[in-house]
Amino acid sequence: MLTRKQSFIATFLAVTVMLMTVCSSAGAAASGQAEKLKVITTLFPLYDWARIIGGDKAEVTLLLPPGVESHSFDPTPKDAVKINKADLFIYTGKYMEPWAENVIKGTTNKSLLVIDSSHGIELVGEHGHDAHAFEWAGVFDLAAGEYTYSLNHGPDPSMKVIILPTTTASAEGIEAVEERAEFLLQSDALTVTPSQKLQADEILYNLDLAEEKSSYTLSIKEAGAYVFFTEHLPEEFGTELKKGGGVVMPRATEVIEGHDHGEHHGTEGNHHHGEEAEAHHHHHGGKDPHIWLDFSLAAKMVDTIAGGFAGKDPANRELYINRARQYKEKLQEIDHLYQQALSHCKHQTIIYGGHFAFGYFADRFKLEHVSPYKGFAPNAEPTPKDIAELMKTIKAKDIKYIFYEEGIDPKTARVISKESNTEKLLLHGVHNVSKEELKAEATYLSLMQDNLERLTKGLECQ
Ligand SMILES: [Zn+2]
Repeated sequence: MLTRKQSFIATFLAVTVMLMTVCSSAGAAASGQAEKLKVITTLFPLYDWARIIGGDKAEVTLLLPPGVESHSFDPTPKDAVKINKADLFIYTGKYMEPWAENVIKGTTNKSLLVIDSSHGIELVGEHGHDAHAFEWAGVFDLAAGEYTYSLNHGPDPSMKVIILPTTTASAEGIEAVEERAEFLLQSDALTVTPSQKLQADEILYNLDLAEEKSSYTLSIKEAGAYVFFTEHLPEEFGTELKKGGGVVMPRATEVIEGHDHGEHHGTEGNHHHGEEAEAHHHHHGGKDPHIWLDFSLAAKMVDTIAGGFAGKDPANRELYINRARQYKEKLQEIDHLYQQALSHCKHQTIIYGGHFAFGYFADRFKLEHVSPYKGFAPNAEPTPKDIAELMKTIKAKDIKYIFYEEGIDPKTARVISKESNTEKLLLHGVHNVSKEELKAEATYLSLMQDNLERLTKGLECQ
């Protein structure tokens, strides 16, 4: 029989052993869990890619609830807590998730690794810029000598300019060389800084306007009429041409509407002169965030994500890099499929009844993307005038199918489709997925594969 003291010790030991067992099993479970990286992603493609790259090493969460419109998504305080507890937070970039910066600033978790998947990708504010017409032309009557061409800091850190001699200092003089200017616009621009002299020659300049005020010297060898073609309106930059302190005014000017070249620049295509300023602010204010819809850019994003995993968990670096490599092969395959399928189509224009999401995509496959929406998000709805403009394009091009976007009620597409007597097909922007798509285990690739089928139909490809 045990003494009281012995019994106490026995109990103590038993309890200790029990506690140790509990601790060690909890410890094993915890370390098993802890080995999995906690990954929070914003958009569906990021979620899909993080799942593939992370595999069994990661527990990936899609922050956006299924069916939620991604551009208007705003995280709740609970979401912020989730992000703060994660090992990796992957987002598209500041133009897609403008809220991310603040959430990241508010995090206290020092070991959280934030991945901006747009890293290394140049976002554009306007697509098909190469084919963009000049917005303004002005003809001057100039004496020989040196002029100062000064520009203030404006909505763009640089601006393209061509100065060409012409026949007469009138509207006719502009017209005479307009085609030549358009042609030169296709050439490579020569980037210059204010220390370099400008010539009135066949040179497409890209003026560096990074400074508060940039003054260029223009040297005119022979007196005569000269036309300035500028990428933007002079008033946007407070542009002045001076000689010996006096301002030289143009004899005639012309605002070149984007109209004739409408389809090349998407959202801008439908505006008229009167809306110029408004349309402009949109373009300079925001960049197109829809990089994931171009497979070559998607591959870059996959690399960036894999790099993040490798950085966070260097022991499995090879694994992550290999998975990314394998996945990029699939991206290349689907890219080829698209190239082939879209190379023989009756139409090259995607009429989109949704927001302007397929700009990078259209650039990749040499298609034109036309949307009546003014922005890169579905919040600014098109006006009846915008829609009327689109109708003209549909009629002129004898288009039978238009496309609508996922996730929101496609009322704009419905109106266009009804008015133009066209059939509407879904063109999925793969921002987010619906409950049904999630249940059906949709992937970025499966959604893009479905898009291809509908595009082939809608563009009447062979
Ligand atoms: Zn979008």
